[in-house]
Amino acid sequence: PTPDDLLVVRQLVKRYGGLLATDHADLSVRSGEIHALIGPNGAGKTTLIHQLSGTVAPTSGHIAFAGQDITHQPMHQRVHHGLVRSYQITSVFLRLPVLDNLALAVQARSGSSLRFWQPARAERARYAEAAAVAERVGLGAVLQRTAGALSHGEQRQLEVGLALALRPRLLLLDEPMAGMGPDESHRMVELLASLRGETTLLLVEHDMDAVFRLADRISALVSGRVIATGTPDAIRQDAAVRKAYLGDE
Ligand code: ATP
Repeated sequence: PTPDDLLVVRQLVKRYGGLLATDHADLSVRSGEIHALIGPNGAGKTTLIHQLSGTVAPTSGHIAFAGQDITHQPMHQRVHHGLVRSYQITSVFLRLPVLDNLALAVQARSGSSLRFWQPARAERARYAEAAAVAERVGLGAVLQRTAGALSHGEQRQLEVGLALALRPRLLLLDEPMAGMGPDESHRMVELLASLRGETTLLLVEHDMDAVFRLADRISALVSGRVIATGTPDAIRQDAAVRKAYLGDE
């Protein structure tokens, strides 16, 4: 590991009965980069993300974040330290306007409990920050629209905003382009690219065009193992990746 490594995964194993969903995986994510995780269906991408966010406990191995061993840390502590995973908006949030959704996320970060009465100044600051995040993710024109009334692409943008409101040092995204048409996916690529330098991204994505346009580095996962990590060009030319993932002989 180098001092630039924000996340370091060493010899991580997740066993389900006889199956190694994660098979001694090694992975490093550098501070400030956009890192994509690719691999065929069932390669173990989602399982790896779950172990990083803290929803699945590894069988063995180590995960370090910002120099601290977090292998057994609960999810809320990881979030507190800046390791944040984006989630699909839940049903309650679908009934709330974009701005209120984001204001709740800002509130969650500050850790103060929701009270009926808030000092007016704190309330204004919270909503101003929520509006800035909405602007940041391209939803500045639909602040009062309920999340449920947004298009599919806009809902995914809001999800990125909800995660950003927590001010992540590392943002984990599981298939941010899933189910999107070309325009929506283009907008998401632009949004994620604009986060470069502001935060660090680790994303799982099946849309290879998006991955190769966006990523600084790519790691290829096959049968739970990271078989290669490199720049998009290096991954494109990697013989093991071509054979295992792209189907080349
Ligand atoms: P996809 O691209 O299709 O989403 P993936 O790369 O994300 O796939 P995972 O969903 O992580 O792959 O699954 C990896 C392997 O682990 C698969 O064989 C899957 O069936 C298995 N697996 C995942 N979760 C469990 C579980 N809770 N119990 C048993 N097996 C599981």
